Amino acid sequence: MKTEMLAAVLYGREDLKIEPVAIPGIDNGDLLVRVKAALTCGTDVKVFRRGYHARMIVPPALFGHELAGDVVAAGEGVERFRPGDRVVAANSAPCGRCFYCLREQENLCEDLLFNNGAYAEYIRIPARIVETNTYIIPRGVTYQDAALVEPLACVMRGLEETGVRAGDTLAVIGLGPIGLMFVRLAKVYGARVIALGRRQSQLDRAAGMGADELLLVPDAAEPVDAVRALTSGRGVDIAIEAVGAPETWELAVKLVRRGGTVNFFGGCPNDSRIGIEAALLHYSEVSCKASFHHTPAYIRKALDCVTRGEISARDFVNREEPLTNLLEVMRYLMSHNGHMKTAILP
Ligand SMILES: [Zn+2]
Ligand SMILES: [Zn+2]
Repeated sequence: MKTEMLAAVLYGREDLKIEPVAIPGIDNGDLLVRVKAALTCGTDVKVFRRGYHARMIVPPALFGHELAGDVVAAGEGVERFRPGDRVVAANSAPCGRCFYCLREQENLCEDLLFNNGAYAEYIRIPARIVETNTYIIPRGVTYQDAALVEPLACVMRGLEETGVRAGDTLAVIGLGPIGLMFVRLAKVYGARVIALGRRQSQLDRAAGMGADELLLVPDAAEPVDAVRALTSGRGVDIAIEAVGAPETWELAVKLVRRGGTVNFFGGCPNDSRIGIEAALLHYSEVSCKASFHHTPAYIRKALDCVTRGEISARDFVNREEPLTNLLEVMRYLMSHNGHMKTAILP
C-alpha cells in the first residue's frame, strides 16, 4: 500500500497548501477512511480567513471536517466496522464522563475531541469518534448527503432547543447554508417561515426550501415593522440568528413576540458585545438560546433525517471540485457571501 497521500494543510491566515503527507497511522479502535466527499462549511471559511479556531483547529494542521467515505482499515478492537463499509463520522466526540457529559450536554464537554483532515485522500477517525459518532451510511444515501449530517445535527439541535411546534411562525435571519438548512428543517417541523436575507439570490434559494415569506433586507435596514406586518402586529414565535454579527443578534430580539424565543445560532467574532433592552426581555418574557455544536443524540437524529430524504445534498451543495482546487474554492467562498457548499472530491 502507498504511504503518502495528498492533503490540505492549513498553515495560517489564508495560507493553505495541498501537499503530500504521510497517510495517518491508526491505533487500537481507530479507523482509516478513504474520503469520498468533504463539504466546505462556513466555519472552514472563517478559519481560513482568521488562520485559527480557538476550539477546533490550531495550525499547522490538516483541514476540513464534514466528510463521508469508505473504511480502508480498522484498528484492533473495532467491531462495528470493517474495510469496505461506507461510513460517516462526525468531527468531534465528547468524553462521556465529565460533569457536562453526565447531564446530556455533551456539546459542552470539558474534553471535546475534535478531528480535522477531511480535505485529504485519507483521514484517521480516532477511537472515541468511532465509538460514539460514526455510522454506516444507509443504502440510497449518497456520500454527500451523509456528509451533511454534522452541520444538520447542529441545526436540528438549535431548532429543537427553541421548542418549535407545528404552526409556529419562525424568522430566519441570514441565508447561508446554515440559515437555509434552518428554513428547510423548520418546514419539515411544520412551521411557517419568514426568511430574511441581503440578496435576491439567497431569497430565491430560501423560496426553493419552502420559505413562506421572503424579506429582502438591505444593509442597515431594520425589518421589524415588515415582520410585525406579517404576524398580526405581534412578532414571530421564534427568531433564529444565522449570521454571527452583533447587529443581527440585536435584531433577532426585536423580531419575536411576547413570550417568544430567540436562538443566537451564529457565533460572533471574539470580544463582540450586544445591547438588549432589559425591560423588553423581562416584561415581554423573551427567552434566549445560543446553541453551539452537536451531541451524539443529534448526530444520530440527523442521519435519520437525511435517510428519510428530508434534507439532501442537492439542496445545499452546488459545486464539485477536486482537492487540488481547494485553495481557489476557499478564496472564492471568502469573497462571495451567500455561497452554498462545495463538495471536495479527493
Ligand atoms: Zn461544518
Ligand atoms: Zn465530557
